[in-house]
Amino acid sequence: MSSDEAAIVFGRDRTKRSWLRAGWRGLAGKCPECGRGALFAGYTRTHGACAVCGLNFAGHRADDAPPYATIMIVGHLTIPLALAAKQLFDPPLALQFAISAPLILGMTLWLLPIVKGGLIGLQWANRMHGFAEPRDEAENWT
Ligand SMILES: [Zn+2]
Repeated sequence: MSSDEAAIVFGRDRTKRSWLRAGWRGLAGKCPECGRGALFAGYTRTHGACAVCGLNFAGHRADDAPPYATIMIVGHLTIPLALAAKQLFDPPLALQFAISAPLILGMTLWLLPIVKGGLIGLQWANRMHGFAEPRDEAENWT
């Protein structure tokens, strides 16, 4: 059975969803299911549904995960650079701040919607939260 064929098991759609493809589509700001519709209506506000395939985006539960992951990424990239610059060049504090603050702020603002899109794609691929089928949600609560 190819990955595009529907796998209906006991009345539920168990078609395998590629987490890698969905994650990449989300990172690109596209619908994780079709890869063509826009995911975001604003900076990090999602559309209600995909304009191309109709996938309902309202069920995603990215919540605090995108800022958390963004902070982890930006911190792990910029703190070692700042420490290395301090050890190698010992620049004045004002210069360190003048370089680090815009770098950290810019990276954070750039990465936040990308990370959020990727996480929404992974949620869809794993049938999490609002992307789960109704019976799956019911089973999670029992
Ligand atoms: Zn779509």
